[in-house]
Amino acid sequence: MTDQVVTRFAPSPTGYLHIGGARTALFNWLYARGRGGKFLLRIEDTDRVRSTPAATAAILQGLGWLGLDHDGEVISQFERAPRHAEVAHELLAAGKAYKCFSTQEEIETFREAARAEGRSTLYRSPWRDADPATHPDAPHVIRIKAPLEGTTVIRDRVQGDVSIRNDQLDDMVLLRSDGTPVYMLAVVVDDHDMGVTHVIRGDDHLNNAARQMMIYEAMGWTVPVWAHIPLIHGPDGKKLSKRHGALGAQEYQAMGYPAAGMRNYLARLGWSHGDDEFFTDEQAREWFDLDGIGKSPARFDLKKLENLCGQHIAVSDDAALRHEIEEYMVAAKLPPLTPAQSDALERAMYCLKDRARTFPELLEKAEFALTSRPIVPDEKAAAALASVSDGILNELTPHLQNASWTRDSLEEALNAFAEAKETKFGKLAGPLRAALAGRSVTPSVFDMMLVLGRDETLARIQDAADAA
Ligand code: GLU
Repeated sequence: MTDQVVTRFAPSPTGYLHIGGARTALFNWLYARGRGGKFLLRIEDTDRVRSTPAATAAILQGLGWLGLDHDGEVISQFERAPRHAEVAHELLAAGKAYKCFSTQEEIETFREAARAEGRSTLYRSPWRDADPATHPDAPHVIRIKAPLEGTTVIRDRVQGDVSIRNDQLDDMVLLRSDGTPVYMLAVVVDDHDMGVTHVIRGDDHLNNAARQMMIYEAMGWTVPVWAHIPLIHGPDGKKLSKRHGALGAQEYQAMGYPAAGMRNYLARLGWSHGDDEFFTDEQAREWFDLDGIGKSPARFDLKKLENLCGQHIAVSDDAALRHEIEEYMVAAKLPPLTPAQSDALERAMYCLKDRARTFPELLEKAEFALTSRPIVPDEKAAAALASVSDGILNELTPHLQNASWTRDSLEEALNAFAEAKETKFGKLAGPLRAALAGRSVTPSVFDMMLVLGRDETLARIQDAADAA
Protein backbone atom coordinates (compact mmCIF):
# COMPACT_ATOMS: atom_id res chain seq x y z
CA MET A 1 0.00 0.00 0.00
CA THR A 2 1.31 3.44 -0.86
CA ASP A 3 0.07 6.76 0.34
CA GLN A 4 -0.79 7.83 -3.16
CA VAL A 5 -4.24 9.30 -3.55
CA VAL A 6 -6.47 7.29 -5.87
CA THR A 7 -9.89 8.56 -6.85
CA ARG A 8 -12.34 7.31 -9.41
CA PHE A 9 -15.39 8.27 -11.38
CA ALA A 10 -17.87 5.41 -11.70
CA PRO A 11 -20.72 6.38 -14.00
CA SER A 12 -23.51 4.04 -15.04
CA PRO A 13 -23.65 4.16 -18.83
CA THR A 14 -27.37 4.66 -19.26
CA GLY A 15 -27.45 8.05 -20.97
CA TYR A 16 -25.30 11.10 -21.46
CA LEU A 17 -22.80 12.63 -19.02
CA HIS A 18 -25.07 14.46 -16.61
CA ILE A 19 -23.90 17.85 -15.42
CA GLY A 20 -23.90 16.45 -11.86
CA GLY A 21 -21.78 13.50 -12.99
CA ALA A 22 -19.40 15.90 -14.71
CA ARG A 23 -19.01 17.77 -11.44
CA THR A 24 -18.39 14.53 -9.53
CA ALA A 25 -15.76 13.57 -12.09
CA LEU A 26 -14.18 17.02 -11.84
CA PHE A 27 -13.97 16.90 -8.04
CA ASN A 28 -12.30 13.48 -8.17
CA TRP A 29 -9.97 14.62 -10.93
CA LEU A 30 -8.98 17.81 -9.11
CA TYR A 31 -8.43 15.96 -5.86
CA ALA A 32 -6.14 13.41 -7.49
CA ARG A 33 -4.36 15.77 -9.85
CA GLY A 34 -3.63 18.26 -7.11
CA ARG A 35 -1.93 15.56 -5.07
CA GLY A 36 0.08 13.68 -7.64
CA GLY A 37 -2.51 10.94 -7.39
CA LYS A 38 -4.42 8.82 -9.84
CA PHE A 39 -7.86 9.39 -11.28
CA LEU A 40 -9.47 6.18 -12.51
CA LEU A 41 -12.53 5.57 -14.61
CA ARG A 42 -14.88 2.65 -14.07
CA ILE A 43 -17.96 2.10 -16.15
CA GLU A 44 -20.67 0.53 -13.99
CA ASP A 45 -22.23 -1.53 -16.70
CA THR A 46 -23.60 -4.44 -14.70
CA ASP A 47 -27.17 -3.54 -15.61
CA ARG A 48 -27.13 -5.25 -18.99
CA VAL A 49 -30.49 -3.92 -20.02
CA ARG A 50 -29.89 -0.24 -19.37
CA SER A 51 -26.16 -0.02 -20.18
CA THR A 52 -25.29 0.81 -23.77
CA PRO A 53 -22.01 1.31 -25.63
CA ALA A 54 -23.40 4.58 -26.99
CA ALA A 55 -23.83 5.88 -23.45
CA THR A 56 -20.27 4.87 -22.58
CA ALA A 57 -19.04 6.69 -25.69
CA ALA A 58 -21.04 9.79 -24.72
CA ILE A 59 -19.56 9.77 -21.21
CA LEU A 60 -16.03 9.42 -22.56
CA GLN A 61 -16.64 12.21 -25.00
CA GLY A 62 -18.03 14.51 -22.34
CA LEU A 63 -15.04 13.82 -20.09
CA GLY A 64 -12.75 14.39 -23.05
CA TRP A 65 -14.34 17.73 -23.77
CA LEU A 66 -13.86 18.79 -20.16
CA GLY A 67 -10.25 17.61 -20.26
CA LEU A 68 -10.77 15.18 -17.37
CA ASP A 69 -8.23 12.59 -18.41
CA HIS A 70 -8.11 9.35 -16.48
CA ASP A 71 -5.21 7.10 -15.67
CA GLY A 72 -4.95 3.58 -16.99
CA GLU A 73 -7.56 1.58 -18.83
CA VAL A 74 -11.26 2.21 -18.57
CA ILE A 75 -12.53 -0.52 -16.28
CA SER A 76 -15.71 -2.40 -17.05
CA GLN A 77 -17.48 -3.49 -13.90
CA PHE A 78 -19.38 -6.18 -15.73
CA GLU A 79 -16.19 -7.86 -16.88
CA ARG A 80 -15.08 -8.18 -13.29
CA ALA A 81 -18.11 -10.21 -12.22
CA PRO A 82 -16.05 -13.40 -11.66
CA ARG A 83 -13.85 -11.50 -9.21
CA HIS A 84 -16.90 -10.18 -7.38
CA ALA A 85 -18.22 -13.70 -7.05
CA GLU A 86 -14.86 -14.86 -5.79
CA VAL A 87 -15.06 -12.39 -2.91
CA ALA A 88 -18.54 -13.59 -2.02
CA HIS A 89 -17.19 -17.13 -1.85
CA GLU A 90 -14.29 -15.98 0.27
CA LEU A 91 -16.73 -14.48 2.76
CA LEU A 92 -18.71 -17.70 2.67
CA ALA A 93 -15.62 -19.75 3.42
CA ALA A 94 -14.72 -17.40 6.27
CA GLY A 95 -18.17 -17.78 7.82
CA LYS A 96 -18.98 -14.13 7.20
CA ALA A 97 -21.59 -14.96 4.64
CA TYR A 98 -24.00 -17.84 4.24
CA LYS A 99 -26.07 -19.68 1.74
CA CYS A 100 -29.71 -18.76 2.02
CA PHE A 101 -32.25 -21.16 0.54
CA SER A 102 -35.34 -19.12 1.37
CA THR A 103 -37.75 -18.91 -1.49
CA GLN A 104 -39.41 -15.71 -2.63
CA GLU A 105 -42.70 -16.94 -1.10
CA GLU A 106 -41.07 -17.61 2.26
CA ILE A 107 -39.61 -14.14 2.30
CA GLU A 108 -42.97 -12.63 1.40
CA THR A 109 -44.71 -14.61 4.12
CA PHE A 110 -42.10 -13.42 6.61
CA ARG A 111 -42.65 -9.81 5.59
CA GLU A 112 -46.42 -10.01 5.76
CA ALA A 113 -46.27 -11.46 9.24
CA ALA A 114 -43.77 -8.79 10.30
CA ARG A 115 -46.00 -6.07 8.91
CA ALA A 116 -49.03 -7.50 10.68
CA GLU A 117 -47.14 -7.60 13.98
CA GLY A 118 -45.61 -4.16 13.47
CA ARG A 119 -42.07 -5.56 13.45
CA SER A 120 -39.28 -4.57 11.10
CA THR A 121 -39.77 -6.15 7.69
CA LEU A 122 -36.02 -6.65 7.17
CA TYR A 123 -35.66 -10.29 6.28
CA ARG A 124 -34.09 -12.49 8.95
CA SER A 125 -33.09 -15.68 7.24
CA PRO A 126 -33.34 -18.96 9.16
CA TRP A 127 -30.26 -20.11 7.22
CA ARG A 128 -27.90 -17.63 8.83
CA ASP A 129 -26.88 -20.04 11.55
CA ALA A 130 -27.98 -23.28 9.93
CA ASP A 131 -25.63 -26.22 9.98
CA PRO A 132 -24.27 -26.70 6.41
CA ALA A 133 -25.05 -30.39 6.83
CA THR A 134 -28.72 -29.44 6.63
CA HIS A 135 -28.33 -27.56 3.35
CA PRO A 136 -30.54 -28.87 0.58
CA ASP A 137 -29.30 -29.21 -2.98
CA ALA A 138 -31.38 -26.27 -4.16
CA PRO A 139 -31.04 -22.78 -5.58
CA HIS A 140 -29.72 -20.27 -3.09
CA VAL A 141 -28.32 -16.80 -2.75
CA ILE A 142 -25.30 -15.83 -0.70
CA ARG A 143 -26.00 -13.30 2.01
CA ILE A 144 -23.58 -11.38 4.16
CA LYS A 145 -23.94 -11.68 7.93
CA ALA A 146 -24.83 -8.16 8.92
CA PRO A 147 -23.84 -7.06 12.43
CA LEU A 148 -26.83 -7.49 14.71
CA GLU A 149 -26.04 -4.90 17.32
CA GLY A 150 -24.35 -1.56 17.63
CA THR A 151 -24.10 1.13 15.03
CA THR A 152 -22.22 1.66 11.82
CA VAL A 153 -20.62 5.08 11.58
CA ILE A 154 -19.72 6.55 8.25
CA ARG A 155 -17.07 9.17 8.76
CA ASP A 156 -17.93 11.39 5.88
CA ARG A 157 -15.72 14.34 5.02
CA VAL A 158 -18.68 16.38 3.85
CA GLN A 159 -21.62 15.11 5.90
CA GLY A 160 -19.74 14.51 9.12
CA ASP A 161 -20.30 11.32 11.10
CA VAL A 162 -23.42 9.54 9.94
CA SER A 163 -24.61 6.74 12.24
CA ILE A 164 -26.85 3.91 11.21
CA ARG A 165 -28.22 1.40 13.68
CA ASN A 166 -27.08 -2.03 12.68
CA ASP A 167 -30.49 -3.53 13.40
CA GLN A 168 -31.61 -1.52 10.39
CA LEU A 169 -29.25 -3.37 8.09
CA ASP A 170 -30.33 -6.68 6.67
CA ASP A 171 -28.25 -9.62 5.59
CA MET A 172 -27.82 -8.20 2.15
CA VAL A 173 -27.59 -10.55 -0.79
CA LEU A 174 -24.10 -10.65 -2.31
CA LEU A 175 -24.62 -13.26 -5.01
CA ARG A 176 -27.96 -13.93 -6.63
CA SER A 177 -29.15 -17.48 -7.17
CA ASP A 178 -27.87 -17.37 -10.76
CA GLY A 179 -24.42 -16.59 -9.36
CA THR A 180 -24.33 -12.97 -10.48
CA PRO A 181 -22.98 -10.43 -8.00
CA VAL A 182 -25.09 -7.54 -6.76
CA TYR A 183 -24.08 -3.99 -7.49
CA MET A 184 -23.18 -3.18 -3.88
CA LEU A 185 -20.61 -5.97 -3.79
CA ALA A 186 -19.20 -5.01 -7.17
CA VAL A 187 -18.57 -1.40 -6.08
CA VAL A 188 -16.69 -2.40 -2.95
CA VAL A 189 -14.58 -5.08 -4.61
CA ASP A 190 -13.73 -2.78 -7.49
CA ASP A 191 -12.86 0.16 -5.28
CA HIS A 192 -10.69 -2.08 -3.16
CA ASP A 193 -8.94 -3.78 -6.07
CA MET A 194 -8.40 -0.45 -7.81
CA GLY A 195 -6.78 0.89 -4.67
CA VAL A 196 -9.26 3.72 -4.37
CA THR A 197 -8.41 5.82 -1.33
CA HIS A 198 -11.08 8.52 -1.65
CA VAL A 199 -14.66 8.04 -2.79
CA ILE A 200 -16.16 11.37 -3.78
CA ARG A 201 -19.69 10.97 -5.13
CA GLY A 202 -23.25 12.24 -4.92
CA ASP A 203 -24.97 12.05 -1.54
CA ASP A 204 -27.66 9.89 -3.13
CA HIS A 205 -25.13 7.12 -2.40
CA LEU A 206 -24.78 7.88 1.30
CA ASN A 207 -27.20 5.10 2.28
CA ASN A 208 -25.25 2.65 0.18
CA ALA A 209 -22.11 3.52 2.10
CA ALA A 210 -23.45 1.88 5.27
CA ARG A 211 -24.09 -1.38 3.43
CA GLN A 212 -20.80 -1.15 1.60
CA MET A 213 -19.02 -0.71 4.95
CA MET A 214 -20.26 -4.16 6.00
CA ILE A 215 -18.37 -5.70 3.12
CA TYR A 216 -15.18 -3.74 3.84
CA GLU A 217 -15.33 -4.81 7.42
CA ALA A 218 -16.11 -8.43 6.71
CA MET A 219 -13.16 -8.58 4.32
CA GLY A 220 -10.90 -6.65 6.69
CA TRP A 221 -10.24 -4.07 4.00
CA THR A 222 -9.38 -0.44 4.63
CA VAL A 223 -12.46 1.74 4.25
CA PRO A 224 -11.81 4.61 1.84
CA VAL A 225 -12.31 8.22 2.79
CA TRP A 226 -15.91 9.06 1.95
CA ALA A 227 -17.06 12.43 0.69
CA HIS A 228 -20.72 12.49 -0.29
CA ILE A 229 -21.47 15.74 -2.04
CA PRO A 230 -24.92 17.35 -2.11
CA LEU A 231 -26.69 17.12 -5.44
CA ILE A 232 -27.03 20.16 -7.67
CA HIS A 233 -30.25 22.15 -7.48
CA GLY A 234 -31.86 24.46 -9.97
CA PRO A 235 -32.08 28.23 -9.38
CA ASP A 236 -35.41 27.64 -7.61
CA GLY A 237 -33.83 25.34 -5.04
CA LYS A 238 -35.42 22.17 -6.43
CA LYS A 239 -33.40 19.21 -7.63
CA LEU A 240 -31.90 20.00 -11.04
CA SER A 241 -34.14 18.72 -13.81
CA LYS A 242 -34.87 19.14 -17.48
CA ARG A 243 -37.11 22.13 -16.91
CA HIS A 244 -34.13 24.06 -15.51
CA GLY A 245 -32.34 23.71 -18.83
CA ALA A 246 -29.73 21.45 -20.37
CA LEU A 247 -28.58 18.54 -18.20
CA GLY A 248 -25.99 16.95 -20.46
CA ALA A 249 -22.43 18.21 -20.18
CA GLN A 250 -22.04 18.02 -23.93
CA GLU A 251 -25.06 20.20 -24.51
CA TYR A 252 -22.98 22.95 -22.96
CA GLN A 253 -20.23 22.29 -25.45
CA ALA A 254 -22.76 22.52 -28.27
CA MET A 255 -24.06 25.79 -26.83
CA GLY A 256 -20.54 27.18 -27.09
CA TYR A 257 -19.30 27.33 -23.51
CA PRO A 258 -15.53 26.94 -23.27
CA ALA A 259 -14.32 23.91 -21.31
CA ALA A 260 -12.13 26.02 -19.03
CA GLY A 261 -15.09 28.18 -18.02
CA MET A 262 -17.22 25.11 -17.49
CA ARG A 263 -14.57 23.52 -15.27
CA ASN A 264 -14.24 26.70 -13.25
CA TYR A 265 -17.99 26.94 -12.86
CA LEU A 266 -18.50 23.27 -11.98
CA ALA A 267 -15.71 23.48 -9.42
CA ARG A 268 -17.53 26.37 -7.75
CA LEU A 269 -20.77 24.43 -7.77
CA GLY A 270 -20.62 23.11 -4.24
CA TRP A 271 -17.01 23.90 -3.46
CA SER A 272 -15.40 27.18 -2.54
CA HIS A 273 -12.02 28.66 -1.85
CA GLY A 274 -12.64 31.86 0.07
CA ASP A 275 -14.31 34.36 -2.19
CA ASP A 276 -12.52 33.24 -5.32
CA GLU A 277 -14.88 32.94 -8.27
CA PHE A 278 -12.53 33.01 -11.23
CA PHE A 279 -9.53 30.72 -11.16
CA THR A 280 -7.28 28.83 -13.53
CA ASP A 281 -7.02 25.05 -13.74
CA GLU A 282 -3.71 25.27 -12.00
CA GLN A 283 -5.18 27.18 -9.08
CA ALA A 284 -8.12 24.78 -8.90
CA ARG A 285 -5.77 21.81 -8.69
CA GLU A 286 -3.75 23.52 -6.04
CA TRP A 287 -6.70 24.71 -3.96
CA PHE A 288 -9.23 21.91 -4.26
CA ASP A 289 -9.83 20.04 -1.03
CA LEU A 290 -12.65 18.23 0.72
CA ASP A 291 -13.01 20.85 3.47
CA GLY A 292 -14.21 23.41 0.96
CA ILE A 293 -17.18 21.30 -0.13
CA GLY A 294 -20.45 22.73 1.18
CA LYS A 295 -23.09 20.74 3.01
CA SER A 296 -26.04 22.33 1.29
CA PRO A 297 -26.89 21.87 -2.36
CA ALA A 298 -25.43 24.40 -4.79
CA ARG A 299 -27.77 26.12 -7.22
CA PHE A 300 -27.10 26.10 -10.91
CA ASP A 301 -26.82 29.65 -12.19
CA LEU A 302 -26.41 30.18 -15.93
CA LYS A 303 -25.49 33.86 -15.51
CA LYS A 304 -22.54 32.92 -13.34
CA LEU A 305 -21.48 30.27 -15.80
CA GLU A 306 -21.56 32.77 -18.66
CA ASN A 307 -19.70 35.35 -16.68
CA LEU A 308 -16.89 32.92 -15.86
CA CYS A 309 -16.80 31.66 -19.43
CA GLY A 310 -16.33 35.22 -20.65
CA GLN A 311 -13.40 35.68 -18.31
CA HIS A 312 -11.80 32.45 -19.47
CA ILE A 313 -12.24 33.30 -23.14
CA ALA A 314 -10.59 36.66 -22.52
CA VAL A 315 -7.44 35.11 -21.08
CA SER A 316 -7.21 32.12 -23.42
CA ASP A 317 -4.50 31.65 -25.98
CA ASP A 318 -5.66 32.63 -29.49
CA ALA A 319 -4.60 29.43 -31.22
CA ALA A 320 -6.16 27.31 -28.48
CA LEU A 321 -9.41 29.24 -28.79
CA ARG A 322 -9.43 28.76 -32.54
CA HIS A 323 -9.06 25.03 -32.03
CA GLU A 324 -11.77 24.88 -29.39
CA ILE A 325 -14.16 26.94 -31.50
CA GLU A 326 -13.67 24.53 -34.40
CA GLU A 327 -14.58 21.67 -32.08
CA TYR A 328 -17.58 23.60 -30.84
CA MET A 329 -18.74 24.04 -34.43
CA VAL A 330 -18.61 20.30 -34.96
CA ALA A 331 -20.53 19.72 -31.70
CA ALA A 332 -23.10 22.35 -32.71
CA LYS A 333 -23.37 20.81 -36.20
CA LEU A 334 -22.38 24.09 -37.84
CA PRO A 335 -20.65 24.09 -41.23
CA PRO A 336 -16.88 24.03 -40.67
CA LEU A 337 -14.69 27.05 -41.31
CA THR A 338 -12.51 27.05 -44.41
CA PRO A 339 -8.77 27.21 -43.71
CA ALA A 340 -8.79 30.88 -44.76
CA GLN A 341 -11.67 31.64 -42.38
CA SER A 342 -9.97 29.78 -39.60
CA ASP A 343 -6.76 31.80 -40.14
CA ALA A 344 -8.74 35.03 -40.18
CA LEU A 345 -10.49 34.01 -36.99
CA GLU A 346 -7.19 33.52 -35.22
CA ARG A 347 -5.83 36.82 -36.52
CA ALA A 348 -8.97 38.57 -35.28
CA MET A 349 -9.07 36.74 -31.95
CA TYR A 350 -7.32 39.48 -30.01
CA CYS A 351 -10.16 41.93 -30.71
CA LEU A 352 -12.97 39.39 -30.34
CA LYS A 353 -12.23 37.60 -27.11
CA ASP A 354 -12.61 40.43 -24.69
CA ARG A 355 -16.32 40.62 -24.32
CA ALA A 356 -17.62 37.31 -25.63
CA ARG A 357 -19.09 34.98 -23.02
CA THR A 358 -19.74 32.13 -25.42
CA PHE A 359 -18.43 31.00 -28.79
CA PRO A 360 -21.61 32.02 -30.65
CA GLU A 361 -21.12 35.52 -29.26
CA LEU A 362 -17.50 35.48 -30.35
CA LEU A 363 -18.35 34.22 -33.83
CA GLU A 364 -20.96 36.93 -34.15
CA LYS A 365 -18.27 39.52 -33.56
CA ALA A 366 -15.97 37.67 -35.95
CA GLU A 367 -18.46 37.90 -38.79
CA PHE A 368 -16.54 40.69 -40.58
CA ALA A 369 -13.45 38.47 -40.78
CA LEU A 370 -15.27 35.31 -41.81
CA THR A 371 -17.49 36.73 -44.50
CA SER A 372 -16.34 37.47 -48.01
CA ARG A 373 -17.06 40.22 -50.52
CA PRO A 374 -19.33 41.60 -51.59
CA ILE A 375 -20.43 42.82 -48.17
CA VAL A 376 -24.17 43.32 -48.10
CA PRO A 377 -24.98 46.06 -45.58
CA ASP A 378 -27.89 45.52 -43.25
CA GLU A 379 -30.49 48.25 -42.85
CA LYS A 380 -28.61 50.29 -40.26
CA ALA A 381 -25.32 49.96 -42.11
CA ALA A 382 -26.99 51.02 -45.34
CA ALA A 383 -28.30 54.12 -43.59
CA ALA A 384 -24.79 54.90 -42.29
CA LEU A 385 -23.41 54.66 -45.83
CA ALA A 386 -26.15 56.93 -47.15
CA SER A 387 -25.28 59.54 -44.53
CA VAL A 388 -21.94 60.45 -46.13
CA SER A 389 -21.62 62.30 -49.40
CA ASP A 390 -20.95 60.24 -52.45
CA GLY A 391 -17.32 60.06 -53.26
CA ILE A 392 -15.92 60.49 -49.76
CA LEU A 393 -14.94 56.81 -49.62
CA ASN A 394 -13.27 57.19 -53.00
CA GLU A 395 -11.32 60.15 -51.71
CA LEU A 396 -10.19 58.22 -48.68
CA THR A 397 -8.70 55.41 -50.71
CA PRO A 398 -5.37 57.02 -51.69
CA HIS A 399 -4.76 58.00 -48.07
CA LEU A 400 -5.07 54.39 -47.03
CA GLN A 401 -3.01 53.20 -49.95
CA ASN A 402 -0.13 55.24 -48.67
CA ALA A 403 -0.47 54.69 -44.92
CA SER A 404 1.66 52.06 -43.32
CA TRP A 405 -0.61 49.35 -41.94
CA THR A 406 -0.26 49.87 -38.22
CA ARG A 407 -2.80 51.12 -35.75
CA ASP A 408 -0.94 54.38 -35.16
CA SER A 409 -0.54 55.23 -38.83
CA LEU A 410 -4.12 54.29 -39.63
CA GLU A 411 -5.40 56.44 -36.81
CA GLU A 412 -3.23 59.29 -37.99
CA ALA A 413 -4.31 58.92 -41.60
CA LEU A 414 -8.01 58.78 -40.79
CA ASN A 415 -7.88 61.68 -38.37
CA ALA A 416 -5.97 63.81 -40.84
CA PHE A 417 -8.47 62.94 -43.56
CA ALA A 418 -11.40 63.81 -41.31
CA GLU A 419 -9.80 67.13 -40.45
CA ALA A 420 -9.25 67.96 -44.11
CA LYS A 421 -12.90 67.22 -44.74
CA GLU A 422 -13.84 69.45 -41.81
CA THR A 423 -15.47 66.61 -39.98
CA LYS A 424 -14.61 64.23 -37.16
CA PHE A 425 -13.39 60.68 -37.40
CA GLY A 426 -16.51 59.69 -35.48
CA LYS A 427 -18.59 60.73 -38.46
CA LEU A 428 -16.61 58.45 -40.72
CA ALA A 429 -16.61 55.48 -38.42
CA GLY A 430 -20.22 54.47 -39.14
CA PRO A 431 -19.86 54.38 -42.91
CA LEU A 432 -16.51 52.62 -42.61
CA ARG A 433 -18.01 49.96 -40.37
CA ALA A 434 -20.78 49.56 -42.90
CA ALA A 435 -18.30 49.22 -45.74
CA LEU A 436 -16.03 46.78 -43.92
CA ALA A 437 -18.58 44.68 -42.10
CA GLY A 438 -22.02 45.52 -43.44
CA ARG A 439 -23.29 46.17 -39.94
CA SER A 440 -23.23 48.79 -37.26
CA VAL A 441 -21.99 46.79 -34.27
CA THR A 442 -18.48 45.51 -34.92
CA PRO A 443 -15.02 45.56 -33.40
CA SER A 444 -13.29 48.91 -33.86
CA VAL A 445 -12.68 50.16 -37.39
CA PHE A 446 -8.92 50.02 -36.82
CA ASP A 447 -9.03 46.46 -35.57
CA MET A 448 -11.05 45.42 -38.59
CA MET A 449 -8.62 47.13 -40.93
CA LEU A 450 -5.66 45.49 -39.28
CA VAL A 451 -7.27 42.06 -39.38
CA LEU A 452 -8.48 42.38 -42.97
CA GLY A 453 -5.23 43.84 -44.28
CA ARG A 454 -4.78 46.61 -46.82
CA ASP A 455 -6.03 44.86 -49.96
CA GLU A 456 -9.23 43.51 -48.49
CA THR A 457 -9.93 46.77 -46.67
CA LEU A 458 -9.53 48.83 -49.84
CA ALA A 459 -11.56 46.38 -51.87
CA ARG A 460 -14.46 46.56 -49.42
CA ILE A 461 -14.32 50.35 -49.36
CA GLN A 462 -14.25 50.36 -53.15
CA ASP A 463 -17.30 48.07 -53.29
CA ALA A 464 -19.21 50.41 -50.99
CA ALA A 465 -18.15 53.48 -52.98
CA ASP A 466 -19.22 51.83 -56.23
CA ALA A 467 -22.57 50.91 -54.79
CA ALA A 468 -23.28 54.44 -53.59
N1 GLU B 1 -22.61 4.23 -10.75
C1 GLU B 1 -23.05 5.16 -9.75
C2 GLU B 1 -23.78 6.30 -10.39
O1 GLU B 1 -23.62 6.51 -11.58
C3 GLU B 1 -21.91 5.71 -8.90
C4 GLU B 1 -21.48 4.77 -7.86
C5 GLU B 1 -20.38 5.25 -6.98
O2 GLU B 1 -19.80 6.33 -7.24
O3 GLU B 1 -20.05 4.57 -6.03
O4 GLU B 1 -24.49 7.01 -9.72
